[in-house]
Amino acid sequence: MDTSRRAGGEGKMSKKKACKRCKLFFEGEECPTCKTSQAVTNWKGRINIINSKESDIAKKIGAEADGEYAIKVT
Ligand SMILES: [Zn+2]
Repeated sequence: MDTSRRAGGEGKMSKKKACKRCKLFFEGEECPTCKTSQAVTNWKGRINIINSKESDIAKKIGAEADGEYAIKVT
């Protein structure tokens, strides 16, 4: 069994999990923003939101917190 796998830094090609609701990438059981465990690994594009309160892009994608988001999830 391999349930203790960790993402180890940049440059790995393994697909990260993105929250199905807010599209935030997260590790672990649930999204820190909307507390859902619904995640998808089938996403396209990534964007880093660093100023979610001011950012037009954040508003556009519905980002409520800073972090890295998927642009599109399926
Ligand atoms: Zn979320």
